[in-house]
Amino acid sequence: MLARIPLLVHLMASEVKTYRALKIITMDGQIPAASHVAVRDGRVLAVGGDELERAYGAADATFVGHVMVPGFVEAHAHASEGMIWKLPYVGFYDRMHPDGQVFRGCSTVDALVARLEQLERALASQDEALFAWGYDSIYFSDKPMRRDLDRVSTSRPVVLFHTSLHLITVNSVALELGGITRDNLVEGVYVDDNGEPNGELAEVAAMFPVLRVVGDPVFDVGYATEDVRRFGRACHRAGITTASDLYSDLEPDVLDTFDAVTREPGFPARIVPALATTRFNLERLRMRLAEISGRGHDRLCLGSVKIVTDGAIAGFSARVRQPYLNGVENGVWYEAPQKIREMIHALHPAGVRLHIHVNGDEASELVLQIFEEVVGESAPHQRHVLEHAQMMDTGQLARAKRLGLVVNFFASHTYYWGDQHRDATVGAEIAARMNPARTALDLGLDVALHSDAPVTPLGPLFCMWCAVNRQTASGRDLGLDQRITPAEALRAVTLAPAIGLGMDDRVGSISPGKHADFTLLDRDPLGVEPMRIRDIRVLGTMLGGTWQPAADPAAGR
Ligand SMILES: [Zn+2]
Repeated sequence: MLARIPLLVHLMASEVKTYRALKIITMDGQIPAASHVAVRDGRVLAVGGDELERAYGAADATFVGHVMVPGFVEAHAHASEGMIWKLPYVGFYDRMHPDGQVFRGCSTVDALVARLEQLERALASQDEALFAWGYDSIYFSDKPMRRDLDRVSTSRPVVLFHTSLHLITVNSVALELGGITRDNLVEGVYVDDNGEPNGELAEVAAMFPVLRVVGDPVFDVGYATEDVRRFGRACHRAGITTASDLYSDLEPDVLDTFDAVTREPGFPARIVPALATTRFNLERLRMRLAEISGRGHDRLCLGSVKIVTDGAIAGFSARVRQPYLNGVENGVWYEAPQKIREMIHALHPAGVRLHIHVNGDEASELVLQIFEEVVGESAPHQRHVLEHAQMMDTGQLARAKRLGLVVNFFASHTYYWGDQHRDATVGAEIAARMNPARTALDLGLDVALHSDAPVTPLGPLFCMWCAVNRQTASGRDLGLDQRITPAEALRAVTLAPAIGLGMDDRVGSISPGKHADFTLLDRDPLGVEPMRIRDIRVLGTMLGGTWQPAADPAAGR
């Protein structure tokens, strides 16, 4: 095995620390597997075998029985994973709190109502609203609506944030307070067979009238110091050393909080917030970008922008080219197509990296057309990223490749909503080719995988498991043609997302010169039986050369 050792390094050998592991998977093509890594000043100095011990002295044996991989990079998550747990969790599936406690899922309407009644009784004041999160109506055949939430209270507002955060379901009191009636329907207010609002409100225009009156504990608050710390703990538990926060207004107080917390010595992750366009026109967006420039550092990476085009497929609010199975004609544009065009035309030539949420294939089509207008024949300035990109077809992916785009697939969707996509949203044929990682890799695209936490739990190993096995929550196979190999999946949670974040010169592989960001696993993700990938335990991470063991090693999900 050939080591890559800089020539003059022996002069400073006393500062070098060498680690030995059972196996080091580097994701660096020049030396893909190794047993030793040398670290100096928080960066990788050399990767290789026993010769590193001869060069730098005896190796630290802490990791000798374990497998080291590059620190996982979560290229599409939200720091609200650290904040949302202020609200009670009422989701369908069991879910782990960032500090390790497991909350049981509510898998029947009666279980959900019973849990809400229990929470309602615990509220102190008479008129305080009851908020909860993690709910998704799509899992219930007898879908809970306002009448079910009216069983919880007819005197105080009850508001359930869906797990996608694109919808809320509310009781009659909340609808009344928001002034939403059958005679006053705005886009996104869903109705029952009699034309009455059924309590489900999709996207901002429909949610806002209610949240404005009853209070908004999710979208209209900044992050407290402890929220960001909790997000860091959730990342650490999942083995993530670089995490995006892919939708932020980056108000001065939020920026200050991110800055302070990421500088704390024990904070375990680099954070990459992207500035959201939703509340800004182009001029104000440019001003905000100018204000934040220069505030970044090694653990806080700034400068990219997030554009949300459409909604969520499971919420029937993504823009699709053919109608949904339930007859809902189409989803919603989160931003007007003209504004999306204006933003891309202005920001691409300025060299700003763009993360563009496209769930439905009509949304992907719009964004590809716009990039074809701006990129033309010349290479793009930045590797912009299509986020989720769930319904892109082969032709669209080929165009994305020509445009130099990165695709970041919502891998865990296959597990959490695959059954519903087949039976209720888009049908078997499209569901089988959603999140088409195989096709994208075969076309030569850089493919990343993400959790979109808190929409699904942070979990690069679980995302790998999803893309490698393509199995739904009910245990059925879904689109086995789109399976990828464990090695391809590992690249999709390390180097490829680093490319998407514009950080592959610093993170994403164990390579000389990059940050010493590693994740320690109890088993080899490339060696275990593929169905066991999600059972691999994260034993801890190293960030910039500082090792932090897991408090209680957690499996990949
Ligand atoms: Zn997201």
